[in-house]
Amino acid sequence: MQTNTQASAPKKAPLIWLNVLVFSITFAVAAIGVPLYALTIGISAGVWWAALGLFIYSGLSITAGYHRLWSHRTYDAHWTVRLIFALGGALALQNSALHWSSDHREHHKHVDHDDNDPYSASRGFWYSHIGWMLREYQPDKYYDYNNVKDMQRDKIVMWQHKHYLALTLLMNIGVPILIGVLTGQIIASLLVAGFLRLVVNHHTTFFINSLAHIWGKRPFTERNSARDNGVLAFFTFGEGYHNFHHIFSGDYRNGIRWYQYDPTKWLIRGMSYVGLANNLKRASDYQIEKARMDVMWSRLQERRQTTAEWMQHEYDALMEKTKAYYMSRKKLLDAKTQEIKDQVSHSALVEQYRDMKRSFRVERRRWKRMVRAAL
Ligand SMILES: [Zn+2]
Ligand SMILES: [Zn+2]
Repeated sequence: MQTNTQASAPKKAPLIWLNVLVFSITFAVAAIGVPLYALTIGISAGVWWAALGLFIYSGLSITAGYHRLWSHRTYDAHWTVRLIFALGGALALQNSALHWSSDHREHHKHVDHDDNDPYSASRGFWYSHIGWMLREYQPDKYYDYNNVKDMQRDKIVMWQHKHYLALTLLMNIGVPILIGVLTGQIIASLLVAGFLRLVVNHHTTFFINSLAHIWGKRPFTERNSARDNGVLAFFTFGEGYHNFHHIFSGDYRNGIRWYQYDPTKWLIRGMSYVGLANNLKRASDYQIEKARMDVMWSRLQERRQTTAEWMQHEYDALMEKTKAYYMSRKKLLDAKTQEIKDQVSHSALVEQYRDMKRSFRVERRRWKRMVRAAL
């Protein structure tokens, strides 16, 4: 019954009012409140710098913590690091690490499948970006956390999950107030380090579910919609190399080249130098190279297939023209031997013959050119 209702679900699914209100109020305050306050009262540089710091902190907590540490287990981290990420994750207001990772593992397992991928990009930009959180699309699914059993052994994960609401309020309101006290601008700090920073955090993360499945190249696999995109990587702490990530999700890197912008990878590697992270996992160079070549090979085969179809079509056309030309020529010769007196039908035959000859020659030229290019 659940699958039957799924197709019509997008229109009928009830709204999740809490999420609707959180997303729209934070967006409205950031878009209207911040510029209004900046123009009328002014916001100090200290507040802006603190907000940037919080943006980077919560962004990296999602990418290096929620994503690469917990969801994919690409490395092990010291408990202090996990605690810092758990707090930063609460600051990002994207649900608990347990809940987030459960969704994310489903996304990888069922990528692009409308019924099971929680933010399937095949349902369009809006749905995969934010729409999937605004309505109760999968009411029966939530939440047994069966796919994150390993995470349930992590005390910090469970502590964050249990106290998620309190931690979120502390980090999103308490910390900006503290910054406000230190900079002497409490309202400005709440607006910029609280609201604006949160909205930017939200949408840059959401771009990974939406744009990174729509815009970019697919050098490593074409079996799903995930794309590699350097521009997105810049705004998402390196997560824009999403095509690589979907085929090698157990690799702590997303951008594998030294020049690719992946600060999450740099952070993890940096932590490993000082003993805060270890057991960093990577796909083998052979596997990566093979994936690239497999993509090229399948593209080549596809190309060959379309070329073959096109040549078949041209060949059929040529055969048709050839037959028509020789038939009309024969008709004309036959007519001559019978000494047709009727000038009208004679000249019609000549005209038809010339037409056939012309289009036969055009077709034959095309064919020869094509064969020369193909061989
Ligand atoms: Zn994805
Ligand atoms: Zn992932």
